[in-house]
Amino acid sequence: MTTDKSASAQTEQKTPLEERLITLIKANGPISIADYMADALAHPQEGYYTARQSIGADGDFITAPEVSQIFGELIGAWMVQTWLELGSPKEFALIELGPGRGVLMEDALRTAALRPEFLNAASLIFVEASGRLRHEQRQRLKAFSSRLAWADDLQQAFEKAPPGAPIILIANEFFDCLPIRQFQRTGDGWRERMITICDKQERLVFTTAPTPPAPAIVIAPSDGHDEDAPQEGTIFELCADGTAHIEAIARKITAQKGRALIIDYGRQKSGFGETLQAVRAHQFWPVLSAPGLADITAHVDFETLAGAAVEMGAGVYGPLAQGTFLQNLGLGMRLERICAGKSAAEQAALHTGAHRIAAPSQMGELFKALCLSSADLPPAPGFQ
Ligand code: SAH
Repeated sequence: MTTDKSASAQTEQKTPLEERLITLIKANGPISIADYMADALAHPQEGYYTARQSIGADGDFITAPEVSQIFGELIGAWMVQTWLELGSPKEFALIELGPGRGVLMEDALRTAALRPEFLNAASLIFVEASGRLRHEQRQRLKAFSSRLAWADDLQQAFEKAPPGAPIILIANEFFDCLPIRQFQRTGDGWRERMITICDKQERLVFTTAPTPPAPAIVIAPSDGHDEDAPQEGTIFELCADGTAHIEAIARKITAQKGRALIIDYGRQKSGFGETLQAVRAHQFWPVLSAPGLADITAHVDFETLAGAAVEMGAGVYGPLAQGTFLQNLGLGMRLERICAGKSAAEQAALHTGAHRIAAPSQMGELFKALCLSSADLPPAPGFQ
């Protein structure tokens, strides 16, 4: 009995962030899913990325650079090739959005060090919301401390970049954390899905807004496919932040030259359907439970992002399945090279890692790579 009681008390204990959101909803009414996501992930004290050991085997989820060093190494080669195609500029900004524990950049720069001129020309800028992860990045990239700066957001990163210089930008599993809004088809048409509290237990629950969304909000997949009137209950997701990031990147690289590589899990074609999800300790978790303690993400709508980049005048390559992209960059050869001289156990571990990041049944198909490029550059490496 005693054990049961304490167990239920534990699961019912609200997180500080939940308490704060409940007070806010009581005072002002329901909040959007985007507001919830932004707070749950990036709140300066209680946000998930700030407060938790999120990434890695002892964290809640694992990412490609954490699985295999080859991921970052191939991206390092991609960055150097891009720099060469830009005409080996003496100065450029190397920006990473959401570098996590800094593993991708560490592996990439180890490969790029084969071209010391590349390293000498790079001003490294990390866009990172979490102070805890910034600390980890600083430790891991100590060797580059004199050329590494941090920015709170993309705009600030552009301000810190050498004026007018080309940009090489990398983002792995960053766009899936950007807040989305959801709209739900009801008997009365589309309504925004909101978050409120249920009266009795004061728990966070989903509801729908009483009035239709503003006319400026287009609730349709980006090129009009799936145009049959959706059934009641259908969900449509919009990530205005993702589109705004892509537009800003596309504008910048069009004006100053450069390339951006965006890798994330998501859909090739935009469409209806819910993809919002939470993960805790490598398991799915209810999205509205214990905000601040679980990672919350949504699939990236690559079709919409690619369309936004084209509108801004950027060259666009992909989206391409991550496995194909990595194979095109020479995953097989790289694997063979780093296996040489290693023990059988080490070789097996390297093969397992490479399989996880590239096999279609693992991360190779669900994850996609998208490249934005200033229009006058040759086709981007890995995409031909
Ligand atoms: N790229 C890393 C980490 C992915 S996790 C990897 O592949 O391992 C997402 C990263 O984005 C974390 O570093 C997180 O703190 C950061 N992040 C999430 N939302 C952010 C935001 N709004 N602004 C800045 N950084 C953010």
